[in-house]
Amino acid sequence: MKRQRITAPTGMHDILPDMQPYYKKVYKALEDIADFYDFQKIDTPIVEQLELFEKGTGSSTDVVQKQMYSFKTKGGDTLALRPEFTPGICRSYIEHGMFNLPQPVKVWFYGPLFRYERPQAGRYRQFNQCGFEIIGDENPVIDAQVIQIFYNLLKELKFKNLMIEINSIGDNQCRPYYKKSLANYFKYREAQLCSDCRRRLKENPLRILDCKEEKCQRIKSQAPQMIDYLCEGCKSHFKKVLEFLDELELPYHLNPFLVRGLDYYTKTVFEIFEDSKGTEGVNLNSALVGGGRYDALIKVLFGKDTPACGGAAGVERIVESLKEKIKGFSVSNPKFFLAQLGTMAKRKSLRLIEELRVEKIKIAETLGRDSLKTQLRTAGRIGVDYALILGQREALEDTIIIRNMATGKQDTVKLNKAVAEIKKRIK
Ligand code: AMP
Repeated sequence: MKRQRITAPTGMHDILPDMQPYYKKVYKALEDIADFYDFQKIDTPIVEQLELFEKGTGSSTDVVQKQMYSFKTKGGDTLALRPEFTPGICRSYIEHGMFNLPQPVKVWFYGPLFRYERPQAGRYRQFNQCGFEIIGDENPVIDAQVIQIFYNLLKELKFKNLMIEINSIGDNQCRPYYKKSLANYFKYREAQLCSDCRRRLKENPLRILDCKEEKCQRIKSQAPQMIDYLCEGCKSHFKKVLEFLDELELPYHLNPFLVRGLDYYTKTVFEIFEDSKGTEGVNLNSALVGGGRYDALIKVLFGKDTPACGGAAGVERIVESLKEKIKGFSVSNPKFFLAQLGTMAKRKSLRLIEELRVEKIKIAETLGRDSLKTQLRTAGRIGVDYALILGQREALEDTIIIRNMATGKQDTVKLNKAVAEIKKRIK
């Protein structure tokens, strides 16, 4: 019988060493931006109580209904792998009494999420998100600043032609009127909707606006728009957000059908796309960033009424685009290679490597090898300036050869002077 290979689970991927520099670059840019805007890092568990997402993200959302990995533990708890960060961060804010800190509380995050989705380009079942949350401030300037921070993060990573899609989905005062009008509109066209949208019509007609099915997209283009239903408060909030974006000269596009897939958003919602084909050709299926205001969420999770705003960027999507922009990373190769032969030389090599580590001098080696010729060939391939050779004779005499790879000149020095001699050659 043929043995089956064990592979990574569908939709989950390894981040191999050659890709790590891209992830590192994103992380570094994120850290610098977070530091500049004075955000503190937060880590929350990868698993949370299932109820957190049912209540927070919303039980009628695709994320909770179709995409969440949930399970019962041996102890009988019902938990879920987190499909998004915001509910966990809000839980933590409430649980640790962060409302007692000076407000707003500004946190940033980075880590893996899990969604049982149909895998395709830029869509995984395990992926990383990073982002920012500002909790405890209702001012529209915060919405604009969150957008600006993500925009700057992408700019730092050399993204060009970025486009911000923005909308307001009102609040619990005005949205019910809009939902009713939307439900009416779709009820008359129910037969033309996909089966998911027929279900959405009963549960939450706003979700239909999020559907990517061609036929539903066509019907939605004539649907009523939230902007016409905003109450005074939401309208004025949205107007101010747009004014701040104008002030910052950020390129945005009003998208009346942008609702985002999650229940808790109020007022501002936004997404950021990279537009490589000009504004007309924006690929609407590949947002790099998504976010918005969520003034009602903390209360839903049994906290005090606390306004908040934030967003998240998909790290894999950023990395995929970075890969197109940066073809390789310059690595700082070690300048020294340690070649050795025999057990005694290996023992002395191990000690020498430790002495060099203390001095922060990087050294390449292939300690498992014995052939000096092979080792020196490796040293040549790496392109080191010097090879250090500890053969059997040198090991016996407590010496080491330092060979200049360019000139071939060799010096034999006492092993206890090796580090000092190596340091001289760095200068
Ligand atoms: P969301 O949490 O759905 O608003 O998504 C925010 C960002 O995360 C998106 O703009 C994407 O960049 C990224 N993202 C969402 N879902 C996935 C996924 N399944 N695979 C990879 N990236 C994703």
